[in-house]
Amino acid sequence: MTDLLPDPDSSDNPGGPTPSYHMDPDEFRRHGYALIDWLANYMETVGERQVMPGVEPGDIAASIPATAPEKPERFEDLIGDLDKVVMPGITHWQSPGWFAYYPATTSGPSILGELVSAGLGVQGMLWSTSPAATEIESRVTDWLVDLLGLPAAWRNRTGPGGGVLQSSASDSTHLIHVVARERATAGQNDRPAFVAYTSAQAHSSVEKGARVAGIEHFRAIDVDENLSLDPEALRAAITADRDAGLTPLIVTSVVGTTGTAAIDPIAAISKIASDESLWHHVDAAYGGSAMICPELRHLQEGAALADSYTFNPHKWMFTNFDCNVLWVADRASLIDAMSITPPYLRNAASESGKVIDYRDWQVPLGRRFRALKLWWVLRSYGAEGIRHHLGEYIRLTQAVAAKIEQHDHLALTAPVHFGLVCFHHRSGNEATDALLNEINRVPNIYLTGSSLGSERFIRLSIGSTSTTAEAVDRLWGIIDRAAST
Ligand SMILES: *Cc1c(COP(=O)(O)O)cnc(C)c1O
Repeated sequence: MTDLLPDPDSSDNPGGPTPSYHMDPDEFRRHGYALIDWLANYMETVGERQVMPGVEPGDIAASIPATAPEKPERFEDLIGDLDKVVMPGITHWQSPGWFAYYPATTSGPSILGELVSAGLGVQGMLWSTSPAATEIESRVTDWLVDLLGLPAAWRNRTGPGGGVLQSSASDSTHLIHVVARERATAGQNDRPAFVAYTSAQAHSSVEKGARVAGIEHFRAIDVDENLSLDPEALRAAITADRDAGLTPLIVTSVVGTTGTAAIDPIAAISKIASDESLWHHVDAAYGGSAMICPELRHLQEGAALADSYTFNPHKWMFTNFDCNVLWVADRASLIDAMSITPPYLRNAASESGKVIDYRDWQVPLGRRFRALKLWWVLRSYGAEGIRHHLGEYIRLTQAVAAKIEQHDHLALTAPVHFGLVCFHHRSGNEATDALLNEINRVPNIYLTGSSLGSERFIRLSIGSTSTTAEAVDRLWGIIDRAAST
């Protein structure tokens, strides 16, 4: 496609070559270079931008025509609209002033890996539809077994477990609820009244997983003063459910809850799951990345006995969304639940039994080449680089927590784990909310609040790719001043 195409139906192209609307490689090269420059410039200046966009609902949509273009547009105009239409409506998650929610880290190697994956445009549903996609994925998930100190039996290479990339921790948790149900009902016609368990502080994806899997009963188990699941309460709930004629099926434990980064007693839950023959799923969506630091691995002690484990490189391992890892201790249960082979997918490689067909490890058929960006992140940083940066974020987090503990007007709301500090104003909810609003009046900083029961608190999450000690110091100055007035 060079400039604007002649209308193929009009008479100014009589007998000429059939027009193509496709972007040719030369144009792709030109626009591609321009966009890499644009992104590099964005990375350099994102810290100066107002983190939260100042738009009202409908503003962005109103600047886009209500109907799709009939005529091709110049690509220069599309790039121009990035600044005019898109940027006013962007929330700057990659800002060094981003201390909200949890980080959604990305990085140069990840972005470039994503670009190449899009450029190759392969579908990796079967080994044979792109062997490199499958084999790189199975290798990097094996690497991560070792890097996170997980059992060698979860490696694809040695089995009987295995690892696979999914699009989100939620997807993995939903999927595992279905797999646990299928394992429990294999060869049976009747479906017992199953029960799924997790902590009252767990992510909503656990309850949704139970719903997706058609598990009738869901129990949010009480937590102790550290906001960790209380194993005695779990045991009591299981006993009560059995007494009521129900069938306990699955328990999900959490390494780093979404609200406060609380950590469940994984070993105690593993023991209960084993005594009661429940599937034990570990949701380490956030905390899993930190297990690359050996000194933190005691926090997940007992995870080696779990049936499945999931964590998000797209949260805290410099790999852009989407990239979630799911391991199962026994891959047969996953494949048995997910495998259906229509005749058009039969092939010699699959039938040889020598290859992994990842379509059998997930709900959808099609799958993208997600492993490339993760492979590049792991190689480009090295384990050492990731460990260095996460260790630095955790050190900065501990330092802020220590200052809050000593502060006249502030107090910690929950134990501090990984890169999250939860704190509140000693004068109560109103003062806490006012403090959060005051901090967020600084345009290039953003934090979010939450509550525990009726108690409001502020979440300070440290660990974006662009986070620096200077940015955290500046933030502390702002918090300290705002809390003291
Ligand atoms: C963020 C988070 C999730 C959800 O992750 P997605 O990949 O966005 O689905 C699940 N569990 C925990 C503990 C989380 O922190």
